[in-house]
Amino acid sequence: MIHERRGSTIESTMAVQGYAPYLVAALFGLIFGSFLNVCIVRLPHHKSVVAPRSHCPQCGALIRWYDNIPVLSYVFLRARCRFCRHPISPIYPLVELLTAILFIIALAEFDLTALFLKAVIFGMAMIVVIFTDLNERIIPHSVTISGAVLGIILSLFIPVNDSLFEWIFRRFGLALTGPISSLVGSVTGGIFGAGLLYGVAWLFRRFSDPDKEYLGFGDVMLMLLVGIFLGIPLTYVTILLGSLAGTLFAVALTLTHKRFRNYQWPYGSFLGAAAIYACFGGQGLIFAYLHWSGLA
Ligand SMILES: [Zn+2]
Repeated sequence: MIHERRGSTIESTMAVQGYAPYLVAALFGLIFGSFLNVCIVRLPHHKSVVAPRSHCPQCGALIRWYDNIPVLSYVFLRARCRFCRHPISPIYPLVELLTAILFIIALAEFDLTALFLKAVIFGMAMIVVIFTDLNERIIPHSVTISGAVLGIILSLFIPVNDSLFEWIFRRFGLALTGPISSLVGSVTGGIFGAGLLYGVAWLFRRFSDPDKEYLGFGDVMLMLLVGIFLGIPLTYVTILLGSLAGTLFAVALTLTHKRFRNYQWPYGSFLGAAAIYACFGGQGLIFAYLHWSGLA
């Protein structure tokens, strides 16, 4: 009896130790998420994300450290400013929670490797873009351009999916390997993403109300960044899923709700969400498709 109980204690200790890395990842995710909130509010207006310290947008009161604890402060303050009782947007705790989930999934998928680092950097850039586009229909160039440069540098150390080019080069009897192969995968992915989205935007403009801009230059820059990080196949998955989800949402809500009739849809948010999906589940989706179609 006693022996059995001791066994279960050891088992539960092992279970807790198994969860510990995920708890640490979640904690880091919450802290980084809190910083992403600052980026989401300030970057579209070209403001510094370092200074000044955060204050209430309504009354200007400085937010104390104990009112700035991810998720918890939002709950304890009951979603209102301590001083002027102005409502706090639920987007703040949402961004913090999503970033924590991103860190947990990245750890589960890639362990503590360079791939983990790349996935969380990419995921965080996407979270910023999703919410700046949703809030203000702006995709900050500061995020897409610096992200694109960082993505090209990272491609030299962490492989980018270049299966398409590897295949083409093999046809000509050339073997493309190592960092150069990854760099080719990254740069061609960026050109493909930006180019294809530019084409889609052109089609949208041609076949829809010319007064409404559905896809702008910010979206093209977003897909440049996505392509550089993910390579051509996953970038294609992103554009396919993002435009499909965005269009289905837009059509469904426009048909059922009058107030959405003149709504400008944040397609960048859909593309950003699709890119995060592609980063973690896209490879499986491509494989399932190839298997289903008999190509693999
Ligand atoms: Zn206030």
